[in-house]
Amino acid sequence: MTGPDDDGAHAGGPAGSPYGDPAGDAATTDAFALPGVPDPFERLWNPHRMAYIQAGPDQVTDEHTCPFCAAPARDDESSLIVHRGATCFVILNLYPYNPGHLLVCPYRHIPMYTDATAEETREMADLAQTAMLAFEAATRPKGYNLGMNQGVAGGAGIAAHLHQHVVPRWTGDGNFLPIIAHTKNMSQTLGQTREILARVWPQAAAEHAARRERNTQAASSAPTGTDAPRTPGASA
Ligand SMILES: [Zn+2]
Repeated sequence: MTGPDDDGAHAGGPAGSPYGDPAGDAATTDAFALPGVPDPFERLWNPHRMAYIQAGPDQVTDEHTCPFCAAPARDDESSLIVHRGATCFVILNLYPYNPGHLLVCPYRHIPMYTDATAEETREMADLAQTAMLAFEAATRPKGYNLGMNQGVAGGAGIAAHLHQHVVPRWTGDGNFLPIIAHTKNMSQTLGQTREILARVWPQAAAEHAARRERNTQAASSAPTGTDAPRTPGASA
């Protein structure tokens, strides 16, 4: 896309443009010629991710090169493991987007969510919920990002081993510092964060069980899928 008055032969900015080579990025991001309508997306500035991208999809190929397979063999402190479940464990991200950034991983070296057993799927969800309650007890975030990046093209840093992100958020945490100063405001070491979350984890697990009981009772009187109007012609 170029500016409306572009003749196709020259798409760069004026001489001396800070956008540099007219044949390069300036051809598509000429701020002098375009109307400059902003899109609605926020930007997450994570230059350290380039190490994963440049290493390519073969950086972790099997259990022997996989950090998520190696971590449970070490002690909790050195591996930054917060909690060990039956089929999944909770570990701090070495490259956090935000303080407290956790990962919930199955022990098995499986790449995709669709490879998880019913028990692994259930425990991943339980541990993500419990992690949120651990944050509530420890640091009271104002919001969360939860998600799974699937495959290299889907943004997974270690695509070979399934992991779910739990990122606590505070109002204003994505401020200007990382952008103008290449500086992220980390108020604790990873070791301190692990210790605090591990300490409140039993309390969070008890709260999770209590909330599950209340939620199950509340849901027992709510409409279910079998109560919904059916599409004409759909089989029962
Ligand atoms: Zn693995």
